[in-house]
Amino acid sequence: MSKEAVLKREGGFILVKCPYCGAEYRVPETVTYATCPYCGTTFMINKPGERIEHYLYRLIIDKNKAYRLARDFATQQIGVVDDLVENSSFKSAKLYYLPIYIYEINIKVPCKEEVEALEKQEEEIVEHKARELKLKVHGGEETEYVLKPAIDKIPIPFPKNYGFPARSRMYFKPTILKNGVYLQPTLDPMKIFDEVKKPSLNKAIEEARISCSRGYEVIDESKYNGLAHYPFWHIVYTYNGKDHNAVVDASDGTIVYLEYPLSIKGRLTVFGSGLGVLGLSTGIGAYLSASLIGDPLPGLIGGLVTGLPGFLYGAYRVARFRGEYRFRPGEEAVFVPPR
Ligand SMILES: [Zn+2]
Repeated sequence: MSKEAVLKREGGFILVKCPYCGAEYRVPETVTYATCPYCGTTFMINKPGERIEHYLYRLIIDKNKAYRLARDFATQQIGVVDDLVENSSFKSAKLYYLPIYIYEINIKVPCKEEVEALEKQEEEIVEHKARELKLKVHGGEETEYVLKPAIDKIPIPFPKNYGFPARSRMYFKPTILKNGVYLQPTLDPMKIFDEVKKPSLNKAIEEARISCSRGYEVIDESKYNGLAHYPFWHIVYTYNGKDHNAVVDASDGTIVYLEYPLSIKGRLTVFGSGLGVLGLSTGIGAYLSASLIGDPLPGLIGGLVTGLPGFLYGAYRVARFRGEYRFRPGEEAVFVPPR
């Protein structure tokens, strides 16, 4: 493998030479990794000689299934039209391969006395060449796989902290490059590593703080495992001639984002809740103002001002005749489909 992959930079693009097959192709200047469209080899632009693991999450949900899942899920939303199944139809589907980095978090925070016991064991092993080395961790311990998007601007509506299901993983196949929008990673996997580790590290240290009487030691053996691409469908369906969008996890069918048509009653409910927010904040403002300075008027105005965004949002939704659902991590168990 050659060491130099960058041939030249111009107009926001880099002309690269594949270190494996020698093909030349262009990638945007912002990417950290490039995948050769001819042989599928993925390499880091700065370190083309270094091998990296590149995985692919299996596409299990086809576009028709994705549409049906989105439509059936829409029928369960509050305020949706009654005739959605009869009067909606599939319009188009676009497949996105989202790049993600895989990290294997392995953090042990043993108590001081456990570390000392281990050191004693080590001495004994050197002397007797018997027994297995064993570190007991009664402090804190966190081991898990963490998957994080490898780009900061995701071109489809996408939740923060999405819990990618870590199953059906295989090695990358270049044939998928032809099937959809293949997004190249732009973030540096090592630069975001500390951020990725932080929740587990804090949790393990917190546990150790509670259970260790004489202090603790942090042993961090976390690893960056490599890059993966994960498939999502962007589905467009129509209802009475109007387009509605949906984003569906193409590996397990989770509805990530969904727009659905509201019935007249549904629209009024949404509008009403906007009015309700307005009324409530106006009332609270007036009450607070009256009880604090004996005059409800300043509070009434203040309440109107603070209530206005809620009201406008309600009015905006009425104008659009459309409801919106956004997947929130942690609610997996509440909503279908099961993961
Ligand atoms: Zn190549």
